[in-house]
Amino acid sequence: MITSELLHETLKDNFGFEKFRPNQEKIINSILTGKDALAIMPTGGGKSICFQLPALLLPGLTIVISPLIALMKDQVDSLKANGIEACYINSSQSSSEQQEHIENIISHKNKLVYVAPESLSYLENTFNQVTISLIAIDEAHCISSWGHDFRPAYTNLGYLKKRFPSTPILALTATADKATRQDISQQLNLTNPVISISSFDRKNLSLEVRPALDRVQQIIDFIEHKPNDCGIVYCLSRKTTEELADKLQKRGISAKAYHAGLDNNTRAKTQDEFINDDCQVVCATIAFGMGIDKSNVRWVIHYNLPKNIEGYYQEIGRAGRDGLPSETVLFESYGDVIQLQKFAAQGLNSEVQLSKLERMKQYADAVSCRRKILLSYFGEIVTENCGNCDVCKNPPAFFDGTILAQKALSAIIRLKESEALPVIVDFLRGSRNAYILEKGYENLKTYGVGTDVSWYDWNQYVIQLINQGYCEIAFHLKNQIKLTPLAHEVLFNGEKVQLTTIQKEIPDKANGKESKAIKPKKDSLFEKLRTLRYEISKRDKVPAYVIFSDAVLREIESHRPMSEEELIAIDGVGKAKLEKYGDVFIDAVIEFQKAKIVKQKKASTTYKETFKMLENGLSVEEIALQRNLGISTVMSHIAKLYEDGADIDLSNFVSTKEVQRIAKAKIFLESPTALKPYFDYFEEEISYDKIRLSLSIIAKKENI
Ligand code: ADP
Ligand code: ZN
Repeated sequence: MITSELLHETLKDNFGFEKFRPNQEKIINSILTGKDALAIMPTGGGKSICFQLPALLLPGLTIVISPLIALMKDQVDSLKANGIEACYINSSQSSSEQQEHIENIISHKNKLVYVAPESLSYLENTFNQVTISLIAIDEAHCISSWGHDFRPAYTNLGYLKKRFPSTPILALTATADKATRQDISQQLNLTNPVISISSFDRKNLSLEVRPALDRVQQIIDFIEHKPNDCGIVYCLSRKTTEELADKLQKRGISAKAYHAGLDNNTRAKTQDEFINDDCQVVCATIAFGMGIDKSNVRWVIHYNLPKNIEGYYQEIGRAGRDGLPSETVLFESYGDVIQLQKFAAQGLNSEVQLSKLERMKQYADAVSCRRKILLSYFGEIVTENCGNCDVCKNPPAFFDGTILAQKALSAIIRLKESEALPVIVDFLRGSRNAYILEKGYENLKTYGVGTDVSWYDWNQYVIQLINQGYCEIAFHLKNQIKLTPLAHEVLFNGEKVQLTTIQKEIPDKANGKESKAIKPKKDSLFEKLRTLRYEISKRDKVPAYVIFSDAVLREIESHRPMSEEELIAIDGVGKAKLEKYGDVFIDAVIEFQKAKIVKQKKASTTYKETFKMLENGLSVEEIALQRNLGISTVMSHIAKLYEDGADIDLSNFVSTKEVQRIAKAKIFLESPTALKPYFDYFEEEISYDKIRLSLSIIAKKENI
């Protein structure tokens, strides 16, 4: 009898995890009772455990069918790091290598074998010699031509049920739609499968859409604020991936391009470097990512608008598999929409593709919680706003834009609905460029009625009018802007138009406070652990995240385990990893703690020295001179001494009035940790030293 306790024990001992993620236990239980199952979980939801854990408890062999060699290698590496013997079989191996694996399988040394559907035949004989306890089919949507990733070799998998009628089959996929789901179950001949559909909500992913204004610079700023975090930039064209990678490299960012046009070696190398933390950023087409299990992708940027929400969600899903907060940014550009619309109209199934694109665009233009929109697309109804998307964090402000709308719509009429957006904006702004003059547009009414609004803002306002249905783009007519009947209501029947204010500042730049806060601290314990992990990964030739995920390193940082008992209590540390890596990580924590104590001691001696001199009546300047320190360093000692309770009269250095002014500023500025915001607030009138001392006085008062 397999109890829940036993399942939890197996999970902790072998994988290091304290508890199951939603649905994992349910799926495992259905397999252990011999039933077929279909598991639908988002990318990063934790599908692997659903077959890896039963494989350990079942008597025979577990076969895992997986489409990609890179993925198999990764999973086998991870299993081995957890002390679990596993192997994969594929056509790139020599026959002696294959033979060795097969012998291990027959002698029950290996409980799991990964194999691509094309290579199943290599194992035909082996299957006659062992009991097959479980067949797991990963990326099962590949069997369905309804899915977006159909693979012909998968269609043969239907024979497995006939060949092994009493072996449970577990099909796993991140594709949710109903048609694909039914197709998977039918084609694999599953008998009454237990179907479990997990929530698609990935709460740790933040969602953000930005206008595609100076995208490259925005991306550079973004990356420079997180120099240790790796991420993926998805681009529409191969050319863009190369150009962008090039620009990032020129800024000293370790970035590479990846697309289907590059040769296999280059692609494999880039993928390896990314997985092994040797390359920070991959600028890629959607060809990149399927074979990647890397759990510490900290961000995903879409340089271009994706074609549909399915693709978008899968791509952003590659961030934050370890469950730690991760960022996603989508750049929306009018040009992209036009281009994608063209592609969709020309391609197969154009109506469906166009309507999918329309949903994507609606998502990008949303003025309400984005996560709600995404989840409703996948059929999940959520009532609460998420609080982790840009709309929730910074709700758009509406204003009465009727006059602006009237101006723009009249301009469109004057131009006989025959011009595209840029010309309309030039016309409104009274531009005297060659095209306008050649057409004689400067003589028309409405020309130049909008000189007071910037080019960028006009552009955005007209896009808002398009989004609200007052006008539309005629894609087949060189993107001319046409009015809709709604426009007439605004122009002639007094209908009011609400527009949203345009956010000028790019979030990262706008808030110096915030962007400083996210800069990693070089000498933090986390960074030390990361470096240690990197060194071990080089030595053992496995990806860094296979050793410990970022989430585990964060836990170690906050709990500071200094013994084996303390380390194994951390979520993500199992027995095998404790044995293999425990000592070095515990040593690293101990060393860090020791260094901290030495530093504190040193600091306290230097403060004491300053205090003694003060007591002896020396001035700040004299102390600085004698101790060969800067004046502001001595002042910072005084502040610290005062905060720690030393009897020092600070009124010699800062007046009560100044303290009061700074106290007020503190409330106004929402208590920033840095001094610079104060310095800027007083327009450099109050010195840093005075600010620092005042804050000490205020802090002490607040603490009483
Ligand atoms: P999927 O195949 O669904 O995309 P994975 O099986 O690769 O997801 O799991 C994603 C991440 O979640 C991995 O880093 C894995 O170690 C982690 N994970 C899986 N199950 C748990 C759990 N119960 N507790 C904590 N982390 C887990
Ligand atoms: Zn939200």
